[in-house]
Amino acid sequence: MRVDGTVASDDEGGRSGGNTDFGSAWARVKRRLRAELGEDVFASWFARLELEGVAAGTARLTVPTRFLKSWIESHYLDRVLGTFKAEAEEIARIEVGVRGTGAPARPAVVGAPKAGPASGPLARLHATNTPAPVAVATASEQRNADAGGDLSGTPLDARLTFSSFVIGRSNALAHAAAERVARHQGEGALYNPLYLHAGVGLGKTHLLHGIGHAAREAGRRVIYLTADRFMYGFVNALKTQSALAYKERLRGIDLLILDDVQFIQGKSIQAEFGHTINALIDAGRQVVVASDRPPTELEALDERVRSRLGGGLVVEITALDEALRVSILSARLAAVRAAHPGFDVSPQVATYVARAITANGRDLEGAVNRLLAHATLTGTAVTMETAESAIRDLVKNREPKRIKIEDIQKLVASRYNVSRSDILSERRTAAVVKPRQIAMYLSKVLTLRSLPEIGRRFGGRDHTTVLHAVRKIEKLIGEDTILGDEVELLKRMLQD
Ligand code: ADP
Ligand code: MG
Repeated sequence: MRVDGTVASDDEGGRSGGNTDFGSAWARVKRRLRAELGEDVFASWFARLELEGVAAGTARLTVPTRFLKSWIESHYLDRVLGTFKAEAEEIARIEVGVRGTGAPARPAVVGAPKAGPASGPLARLHATNTPAPVAVATASEQRNADAGGDLSGTPLDARLTFSSFVIGRSNALAHAAAERVARHQGEGALYNPLYLHAGVGLGKTHLLHGIGHAAREAGRRVIYLTADRFMYGFVNALKTQSALAYKERLRGIDLLILDDVQFIQGKSIQAEFGHTINALIDAGRQVVVASDRPPTELEALDERVRSRLGGGLVVEITALDEALRVSILSARLAAVRAAHPGFDVSPQVATYVARAITANGRDLEGAVNRLLAHATLTGTAVTMETAESAIRDLVKNREPKRIKIEDIQKLVASRYNVSRSDILSERRTAAVVKPRQIAMYLSKVLTLRSLPEIGRRFGGRDHTTVLHAVRKIEKLIGEDTILGDEVELLKRMLQD
């Protein structure tokens, strides 16, 4: 899908109206991402990210699968934007779409979302962290799986070790459990599975890689898989009718580490996921899992699988407190300084950055990269002012508005000419049921409340009622573009 009529066509090589050659800028962005993130990370997520065009400050990027899209949106959007901006200052926003699906794209936009009373396709876009549903086994994913081999696992990042992991109050328990599991010798498994959960950027993947490195050093056979690798691998194995061999090989390992299991979707894959976990645990093999939510809230998974996942040790990593942020930042700065001796950041600036960036470790890392870019490009020392401007957008993007369930109920009620108490009531007439379901859906996607909590806030309903409403509206939005636009508009109104 084109952003609008002004988007550069392919034979212009991404060059658009102004003087900037966005095609070359994009090539430099990719080179920088490769250099900064390392070959493995780059190959996993960015190799197939392409620039489709630039229009009105918005760079339109595309990937072949919805999984990649949602992954990049939830993990790397700010980073890609920051890097692109550094190469071409006209870029104010980026959006990510899926190539060649023909489906209406609902991309996330990062940058300056409130563009006044804009109209046209861009006006409908909104920033959201809600991952798009995962499309399993599209043709291109299938090719990818064939090329990658199904059980090679996802490579471990050499930087993400226990020794580079900074321990603080919010992650001490998770770290202790991870170390014990990694260093465990002898028969059986410890807490099985070990289930870590936390919001984005709080160190789950870092700990999982740490476990992987340490266990491998101790001579154990480890497979680390991201959800997509699990899905591609399994789908591929089914296709080539080697499901048995796949499972046999899985069972032949000592430690299986699965990252971001909330992305595991699709009926047959879920079932296989359940069998695999059961087989491993029953055979006394250690399983470690990370997710962005507790096992009870993995709505896509079967109840039995959820309870199995919650049957070992479940540990949450909570928000990083200031002391921990300062330590992580100092450690990152020291690591960067080792490679760039001229790069010096005063303790005062470091403290400022750690205070300003409260969201997560990923943004702290982003901030260090910004400071470094600034220092190397200008050749000057980092002052408070330069630090402030270098990280300004990280600070702004960080705190999405907190939306209250009550506000959602009020807005939806007024939009549909019913009262808020109608929405909370037992009434089941169509005029009330639909707004109620929309309000439940919006509560799920716009707040961090769990399904049972949302049920309580809607007149004491059961969580299954909420789940039903969420699924129903998701389905309707997919089928009915008018309703889709309507819900989109409600979202924007709540987010503004
Ligand atoms: P998650 O998987 O929870 O989204 P990551 O493990 O990818 O988060 O962490 C994001 C970034 O923050 C990584 O660069 C990671 O190294 C860093 N980070 C997070 N927590 C810590 C920590 N306690 N010590 C050192 N680095 C951390
Ligand atoms: Mg992660």
